[in-house]
Amino acid sequence: MSNGSTFPPPRRPRGAIVLVVLAAVLVAAGAGYLVLRSLRGGGGAPPGAAHPAPSASAGDGNRPDKKDGKGDGSQDSGSGAHSGKGNPHGSLKGKTVLIDPGHNTRNHNHVREIARLVNIGNERKECDTTGTSTDAGYAEASFTLDVARRARTILQHQGAKVVFTQDGDRPFGPCVDERAAAGNKAHADAAISIHADGSAVGNRGFHVILPARVTAGAADTSAIVAPSRQLGERVAGRFVAVTGSAPSNYIGGGTGLDVRSDLGGLNLSTVPKVFIECGNMRDPKDAAHLTDAAWRQNAARGISEGITDFLTS
Ligand SMILES: [Zn+2]
Repeated sequence: MSNGSTFPPPRRPRGAIVLVVLAAVLVAAGAGYLVLRSLRGGGGAPPGAAHPAPSASAGDGNRPDKKDGKGDGSQDSGSGAHSGKGNPHGSLKGKTVLIDPGHNTRNHNHVREIARLVNIGNERKECDTTGTSTDAGYAEASFTLDVARRARTILQHQGAKVVFTQDGDRPFGPCVDERAAAGNKAHADAAISIHADGSAVGNRGFHVILPARVTAGAADTSAIVAPSRQLGERVAGRFVAVTGSAPSNYIGGGTGLDVRSDLGGLNLSTVPKVFIECGNMRDPKDAAHLTDAAWRQNAARGISEGITDFLTS
């Protein structure tokens, strides 16, 4: 069961696009005189008479499709704002996205190295951890890298530059402070760390973790708290819509959102950043999703669309 009401409604410009498309369809169908009469103020139709249609359709939560994108150029020139709506190819040109695949498939061979403590501003924590796995042994680190690569393909197709913290190309880590630094160094417009949880059986669903306001030592998240929440809300909203997964039933009170001050990857970030725990690897029902490649593709799509929404708003 999805709790869509906790997420931001589709943005108005999409409704405006629907309005334009609807008007065009009406004209093509030979009903143009109705529209013209309305525009001239004739027939007693109030100026806002055509507005209920788009608001009704906006409520269905449909994702933007290719058809929306095709018409974007001319429609945007009419409305004069919010170019890039409808996710046309190239809408993320000039944008940089940092993707952090959580953990590392080889961390378990480097227990001593990843146990080294690093400073995350308000405390010292392990450099990195091995992550969890399903009962059948599918590692969280394999999951995070797979979803990250799928999301990279989608975002690159949209024109974004995508930077990874690790791509299965190093023996362990990187440490959590380095993972944050990678996004900062790339001047990422948005950053996301991909994970899956290891909780009790029966605990199900995804949640997005937002940075708390932390100002301690090298950590100062005051500038990223607000934009990170916007990013997180959009990712959560699109994740629900695309995967059909419900927000976590054990964290976040049904909102799919959590706020934490104990994650180095968030504390040390100077760019908008969130974590997503895509599901609970220890729950058999969630694990069935997490181990399914088709579901992971949808997860990557939900994440990518949330990022795209954030970057084109
Ligand atoms: Zn993790």
